[in-house]
Amino acid sequence: MYKLYPDCIPVKGFSRSVIFNLFHNEYIYIPNDLYNLLNKYENTTEWYKHIEKSKHLILDEYIKHLVDEKCLYHVNDLSSGLVSLEYTWDTPEDVSILNIETTHNVSYKELDLVNYLKKTRVQNLVINSVSLAISEKILSLLQETYVLDVNLYLPYCHQNALQFDHLIEKYPFITKIVLTGAKDNTSCPLDSSNQVIVHYLKEYKTDPANRSISFVINKKFFLEARSFNSFYNKRLFIDTNGNIKDCYSGPVLSNIKTCSLTEHKISGKYWSVKKDSVETCKDCEHRYMCYDPRIPIKTGEKTIYATHCGYDPYKVEWIGNK
Ligand code: SF4
Repeated sequence: MYKLYPDCIPVKGFSRSVIFNLFHNEYIYIPNDLYNLLNKYENTTEWYKHIEKSKHLILDEYIKHLVDEKCLYHVNDLSSGLVSLEYTWDTPEDVSILNIETTHNVSYKELDLVNYLKKTRVQNLVINSVSLAISEKILSLLQETYVLDVNLYLPYCHQNALQFDHLIEKYPFITKIVLTGAKDNTSCPLDSSNQVIVHYLKEYKTDPANRSISFVINKKFFLEARSFNSFYNKRLFIDTNGNIKDCYSGPVLSNIKTCSLTEHKISGKYWSVKKDSVETCKDCEHRYMCYDPRIPIKTGEKTIYATHCGYDPYKVEWIGNK
């Protein structure tokens, strides 16, 4: 008989379901009837017992498919098998991602950026800067912090990828460089190991809330999305004027010119607004892979998004291209 690997987790949608393969970072669609079997009974012997004989041939096909997709593994008896995955998510840092926009006017050094990064144990920094020189001022401060990952956004000024080699050597925590306002959308690896990719973008929407959704399939994302907003959880924004916000276009919570970053209180307004509590998304089979920067809006008892994402989980169809 076969069982589902513990890293293969079925998720039910309104019209179809998905199995997340969190070991291989892949997913496959399955019908809801199969989800009901997988969810209720833990091995293939039980599945056969609980569906009509006339459907056994179809089940044979699905089992073969799931074995091919590395979702099922063979066991000799009921007592053998692998331990199930723990469904919890927590991280030690108070803020995971800090998005900062920089201009020539704001000196983050004076305004104790380093102390803030240390205090909140920020690990991911997104720097949206007007120039490489300004970015380097910040990068030079990060050695004594917990920052492990920096995404650098810069205006495109005919740079080519090789110009950034020295930067990566000096600051190995840079994982992504995005040059905005380029002639074409292209990407190229920066170093021989392909660890850092330079992305050239024609169009760049500064406010993440205006960007499209995308899918991310991995264990960290899946577990976070089950309990929290997978875009805004533990994320803060500091705009070009030094305003601290929960989201890019949201109300100003405080300003780093008047309130030291280390004194700033975290509001976390959107942090726990998970997809399971948002209309339509709560019925969508993609809800634990959907990287959605739109801002959830509370209207009465319901939470919605103001714009359509492009997918209809009831009809199982995309509007436009996906
Ligand atoms: S309905 Fe759209 S935004 Fe919501 S989870 Fe599905 S794909 Fe994502």
